[in-house]
Amino acid sequence: MKITIIGAGPGGYEAAIMASKLGAEVTVIEKNEVGGTCLNVGCIPTKALLASSDVLTTSLEAEKFGVFNDHTTADLEQIIERKDKLVSGLVKGIEFLFESNGVNLVRGSGKMIDSKTVEVKRNDGAVETLVSDKILLATGSVPICPEMFHYDGKKVITSTEALALKTPPKSMIVVGGGVIGCELGQFFSRLGTQITIVEMADQILISEDESVAKQLLRQFKREKIKVLTANGVADVNVQDSGVEVTLTNGKTLEAEMMLLSIGRSSFSKGLNLEAVGIIVDQKGHIPVDDRLETSVKGIYAVGDLINTPYLAHVASKEGIIAAENMLGENKTGVHKAIPRCVYTQPQVAAVGVTEKEAQQRGIPYKIGSFDFRSLGKAQIIAKIQGQIKIIVDEKDVIIGASIVGPEATELLTELTMAVHLGLTAEVLGDVIHPHPTLSEAIMEALHDVHGKSINKVALRL
Ligand code: FAD
Repeated sequence: MKITIIGAGPGGYEAAIMASKLGAEVTVIEKNEVGGTCLNVGCIPTKALLASSDVLTTSLEAEKFGVFNDHTTADLEQIIERKDKLVSGLVKGIEFLFESNGVNLVRGSGKMIDSKTVEVKRNDGAVETLVSDKILLATGSVPICPEMFHYDGKKVITSTEALALKTPPKSMIVVGGGVIGCELGQFFSRLGTQITIVEMADQILISEDESVAKQLLRQFKREKIKVLTANGVADVNVQDSGVEVTLTNGKTLEAEMMLLSIGRSSFSKGLNLEAVGIIVDQKGHIPVDDRLETSVKGIYAVGDLINTPYLAHVASKEGIIAAENMLGENKTGVHKAIPRCVYTQPQVAAVGVTEKEAQQRGIPYKIGSFDFRSLGKAQIIAKIQGQIKIIVDEKDVIIGASIVGPEATELLTELTMAVHLGLTAEVLGDVIHPHPTLSEAIMEALHDVHGKSINKVALRL
């Protein structure tokens, strides 16, 4: 079986390796570096930068632990250098995985000719035609940059340019208080940039629990990050000295730079989908069935290109499912429990429904919660801010969880597993959690669902 994959982001590269392991002859076409958005300008570089600012913050707070470090400073150029080294090491890692699994990598741009044929314009100028039994489209997404924002990559930038700045700007307007805006906004703020986040909705992190978003907002205020919710951008004026933004409420803001983080859109430009009769939906997504096959038999699509959450772990999972299906299995791409993570300080992590969603959908539910401040481990590491909130349905089955606090993104997996497996609060709460760990907060929140949290401060005073 011959398989051609266009795009080597998490969707494409994991599909390639899996298909090869299952016995297919696989060719991957990639116009840039392997690893896609995630590895080159997304998940990995942002988290590498945040790891540096976390060290900076911990170092500045060292005295709390009886440790004295009088000369703490940060240098963005060196932070970026570390990030670049990390990324190029991981890129080489994927290239090695391709090699060791017999995946053929062609560097260039692929486009459809017919349902079995892909034409590649190689980066060295040569043109080649590949005929295969099955084709996987995994070309991902690009930042949304409406014309009115006058994106120029210098004063008006996206996350891609933000990840390569060598000196922190004095001030930055961040348009969009979603995951990317919050993460990069806090990172630059910690390096000394005066940040103003402008968000159209009435809360930052609009898909997350209101109380969780409020906790993060409180921290942002402590760090002097300005957040203007329920505010849109009406006009943008790029000048030599910087950017002037007029808000929908008539007020104006000025800053050295503006970071556009208002979302991403699927990228199918140049794929020549017309040649095979695939029609994208209004948002540019390629429609697929439960098995991730498009309307054209033998052509599959995954990741940011289809209408599922724009997350690397979703793309990878879909890549694996598509590979298995191309090789004769019948797996479905519908995911019950998709973890959502924000790597700010405090971190935010959630799975399943939020309380608001349960209310909107009329689901009868109960809540169990626990504050980190009551936990020994949180006090040991001096990270007491935040809480865990668990939502169960009327049968005690865990249908959602939101965490804001230390290591929230690591803690979430236990609750993701619970939602995935349909575990009850009673069953999971019965599991012995090690002491002293942050995971005890999950156990306490589970016990709290039944009013049995030993360490929760009772309000019956
Ligand atoms: P992509 O990773 O976008 O890969 C598509 C690849 O296709 C690219 O390499 C592109 O060059 C290539 N390509 C496109 N067209 C062609 C063509 N015609 N021919 C050849 N090659 C082509 N997700 C998380 O889960 N966790 C995070 O912490 C996280 N952080 C993020 C931070 C930022 C700043 C950004 C921008 C994104 C972040 N994401 C995160 C989202 C994540 O990066 C994407 O969801 C993920 O990369 C999507 O994978 P994909 O394989 O669908 O596409």
